[in-house]
Amino acid sequence: MNIEKIRSDFPILGRAVYGRPLVYLDNAATTQKPRVVVEGIAEEYYSVNANVHRGVHFLSQQATALHEAARERVRQFIGARSIAEVVFTRGTTESINLLAFCLGETILQEGDEVIVSVMEHHSNIVPWQLLATRKGIRLKVVPMNEAGELQLDAYEQLFGPRTKVVSLTHVSNVLGTVNPVKKLIDTAHTHGVPVILDAAQSIPHLSIDVGALDVDFLVFSAHKIYGPTGIGVLYGKESWLERLPPYQGGGEMIKHVSFEGTTFNELPFKFEAGTPDYIGTHGLAVALDYISALGLENIAAYEHQLLLYATERLTAIEGLRLYGEAADKSSVLSFLVDDIHPFDMGTLLDRLGIAVRTGHHCAYPLMQRLGIEGTVRASLTFYNTQAEIDALAEGIERVRRMF
Ligand code: PLP
Repeated sequence: MNIEKIRSDFPILGRAVYGRPLVYLDNAATTQKPRVVVEGIAEEYYSVNANVHRGVHFLSQQATALHEAARERVRQFIGARSIAEVVFTRGTTESINLLAFCLGETILQEGDEVIVSVMEHHSNIVPWQLLATRKGIRLKVVPMNEAGELQLDAYEQLFGPRTKVVSLTHVSNVLGTVNPVKKLIDTAHTHGVPVILDAAQSIPHLSIDVGALDVDFLVFSAHKIYGPTGIGVLYGKESWLERLPPYQGGGEMIKHVSFEGTTFNELPFKFEAGTPDYIGTHGLAVALDYISALGLENIAAYEHQLLLYATERLTAIEGLRLYGEAADKSSVLSFLVDDIHPFDMGTLLDRLGIAVRTGHHCAYPLMQRLGIEGTVRASLTFYNTQAEIDALAEGIERVRRMF
């Protein structure tokens, strides 16, 4: 990993904030984009742009080829069996809403149960609560231990005859915990229950093979994996996607329409009503090419070193409490220092050019479990450096002295 060379691929990393070099440590919220992604998008607008699927003309066919090549790229990247299993959505949030709606129309009845965990992002809680209001389903919650690891015995005990869906995050956006998803999936399957995996925080850091995991659905957002905003993926086993009804109606998702009735398009188009974000899908494909060239194994190894270094530097700071100390952890550090409010810490670090996230991180129930209102979160990725972690540690010390 030639980090200096890699950093030069991301133009934004060279900018200054308040006259200081930007230290961008908010990668769990969104990642920066390499030049190839931005240029790939610009190039498509400049020389290929046309609506996809419906046109006989040259540009439309070229745009369609790029869009469908992106689907194939995603299929390879996650190890799906067929492009029929790769649905493009607006992101993780839309993918989970789609699943909550469609599973609510098929396998969930009043009184049925959906298992989630205490460390879910709101996007894997609220769609199920909306369904609970409409259909009378109930949520069951997997607890965690003090280190921030899910309690597997308690998980197992949540299953009962009314359990119909398990929907869990792969990696916690607050604690960095990497959940033992293969085990969690296998347990659900022994009870005949399908599993949705929220891979928003794992897809940029871990190599994922949906076939090896045998996961039923997997969802993620392109913007967290160096791709554009507004595009994401819903992977579903073909047998499941076949069973589900459409989510939205409109163009593209139909085979034939008359006022007497409509027949729906084949997979994956049944779930893709309206003009798709074909520019975004191409941007995502370029991003996947970019990180594949770096190698996910290399990325994971480098990020792990960064995590170890950052953990050592931060925990050496007097009064700093780290939240999330799982044995298997991704490069996320949530912390509080003395009784300094996270907003104050974040605002003062910002003045030093250091971008961190503060607050509840869209995980109110987890904050409740931890008995706090929020944390400061530094989330690292492969373009971050030890020098940036030093800057963070020195920044925290400086803020601490001010208080
Ligand atoms: N799930 C997790 C674990 C996340 O970290 C996020 C975003 O922070 C989401 C879901 C929602 O992703 P998006 O806002 O891209 O739909």
